Amino acid sequence: MTTTISAPAPNPALVSDEARIDFWARQAGRLDWATPWHTTHRWQPPAAVGTEPDGTVRWSVPEIGWFEGGTLNVAYNCVDRHVEAGRGDHIALYVEGEPGDRRTYTYAELQREVSRAANALLSLGVEAGDRVVLYLPVIPETVIITLACARIGAVHSLVFGGFSAEALRFRVEDTGAKVLVTTDGQFRRGAAVPVKAAADEAVSGENAIEHVLVVRRTGETDVPWTPGRDIWWHDLLAGQSDVHVPRAFDAETPLFIIYTSGTTGRPKGLVHTMGGYLVQAAYTHALLFDLLPETTGEDGVARPDELAAVNDPAKVESTVHWCTADLAWVTAHTYEIYGPLANGVSEVIYEGTPTTPHPGRHFEIIERYGVTTYYTAPTLVRSLMAAFPDGVPATYDLSSVRLLGSVGEAINPEAWRWLRAQVGRGTAPVVDTWWQSETGATILSPRPGDAQFDDGATAKPGCATRPVPGVSVRVVAEDGADLAPGEHGLAVVDKIGPSMARTVWGDPQRYLDSYWRAFAEQGWFLAGDGAKVDADGDIWILGRVDDVINVSGHRLSTIEIESALVAHPWVVEAGVAPTADARTGHAITAFVVLHDGVPLADVTPVLRAHVSHEIGPIAKPAHVAVVPDLPKTRSGKIMRRLLTQLFEGTELGDTTSLQNAPAIPAIADAVASWK
Ligand code: ATP
Ligand code: MG
Repeated sequence: MTTTISAPAPNPALVSDEARIDFWARQAGRLDWATPWHTTHRWQPPAAVGTEPDGTVRWSVPEIGWFEGGTLNVAYNCVDRHVEAGRGDHIALYVEGEPGDRRTYTYAELQREVSRAANALLSLGVEAGDRVVLYLPVIPETVIITLACARIGAVHSLVFGGFSAEALRFRVEDTGAKVLVTTDGQFRRGAAVPVKAAADEAVSGENAIEHVLVVRRTGETDVPWTPGRDIWWHDLLAGQSDVHVPRAFDAETPLFIIYTSGTTGRPKGLVHTMGGYLVQAAYTHALLFDLLPETTGEDGVARPDELAAVNDPAKVESTVHWCTADLAWVTAHTYEIYGPLANGVSEVIYEGTPTTPHPGRHFEIIERYGVTTYYTAPTLVRSLMAAFPDGVPATYDLSSVRLLGSVGEAINPEAWRWLRAQVGRGTAPVVDTWWQSETGATILSPRPGDAQFDDGATAKPGCATRPVPGVSVRVVAEDGADLAPGEHGLAVVDKIGPSMARTVWGDPQRYLDSYWRAFAEQGWFLAGDGAKVDADGDIWILGRVDDVINVSGHRLSTIEIESALVAHPWVVEAGVAPTADARTGHAITAFVVLHDGVPLADVTPVLRAHVSHEIGPIAKPAHVAVVPDLPKTRSGKIMRRLLTQLFEGTELGDTTSLQNAPAIPAIADAVASWK
């Protein structure tokens, strides 16, 4: 048993509401405000306002405000102020294109580009409050146009460039966007593929689109064109001034709409606002990626000062951050666009996939730019493990890496150990950041300073650990009661921070129903993930509540069973899902992707025995299906509800968020032939 690592100062959210609100007010001092706020925090919890037709209480939609009355410009805070502080020559972006093209942007260059883009959008009549959808790959224009929207107060919504026309159409219509920005084509796995036709298809029906702006990326020749509506981005930019005076907006002005990954159903368009979001993005980026100054605690040990509201300039100067997420994912909004740029660090963005042109691409990029903080997803780590079973080749110099991070899913301990050993020399801290599109920024994570207390035996791979300062989390039973250590319950955020989503775009009722109704009386946010607290008080995320498997009354965690399977040398990846069973309620069904050369006849008995040994006989899968791939969302999350549906042969639900739709028939065939 390990001892919990005490924070240098107590989490203000656990002290009192006043301390929490004061803490965020101090953190807001990280930003430049044009006008100071009058109300740091306004919180109107759900209130009982009547009775639903079914006799249950009708609740009002909660209201959240932070820094009300204050005004600021988000783009100014991410770009201009660094230039004004004399850091215009500092690299903001290292851009690595898929075909091998590279370029860098200093903060001064970024300021000019964002200003030109802002002027370009204004010249089209885009106004504050208008929605702009970006359907773009990871290219510098994506960052520049995103910041240009923020600069003029247009609400951006980024859509993953790999999504289908159907997925894009839903987002264009749901946001009521006036402008769509896309490219002629995209590079995908070494080939240029056309994009514009898909964009046209998405805007072919009833919608509010006035213009489609097209960034030239691949040099496609036959780009379909609607005169009057379509404009080349370079034509629109031509002649625009690279000077733009930013205007300050109220802190509660919408900054962007982000759609959830859609792992559990139809994506929800969460709305984040300017002031609160940027404060928490900047602070948590500094906290988690080690920009805070060191302090010596009561125990005489030096570690980062978690409550500091200023960064250590030397740490800022020496950081080369790399968040590997696609820019359209919430992870990238917070830890690739807004957080790192608000903190003025250098960072890498890269286009394409990790395996093109070769599986060592990430290592090459780390070496080329001297990446110091590498933040990625468990799915990527598992694919690197499969590609490099003997570890990272010694030809790559990864010595610049001083911190690792993981996000998107619970990381299997096997993958955590591999990442740390192979990319972090066995000693780099690993921040396993648990959060959601809804929370806007990390809620639970170990801290960079924890690693110094970790002798290898005390590490807790796969544990999201504890709330970041300024927020708090409880693990409770369905009736809200506290649970004993080890008991499985629901994760709720009982004290929120300023980056909590304010609503679901156009559907406040869904915001209430999805997140606040379950614990309306207490005013807690329901995260939708299962969790447990261990004897040290550390929190473990166990997977989606929707995916929880209930075998004869025992609630089992999909993640725990998957991690046990992945720990077996035969298994590359595992997805575990409940399937109907007349006797036990749910049967545990495991879908495994295997290394080459595994004796197939032995798979079921060997893996059943393995899980039984690792967790207990109750967790033993009833069925083990060998599949070529697992259905995943664009952000690499396993879609377990599809596994259940594939196994049971029922109709597949919403699949618009699928990343690997072409793999589905092969998975279905494998499941069918297995049965
Ligand atoms: P939808 O809500 O539409 O089903 P989604 O929940 O996949 O989509 P996101 O907001 O992108 O959309 O993902 C948040 C979820 O990702 C969390 O609720 C959690 O299940 C999972 N997650 C993210 N990071 C971690 C982590 N470090 N450990 C465990 N789970 C994580
Ligand atoms: Mg979710």
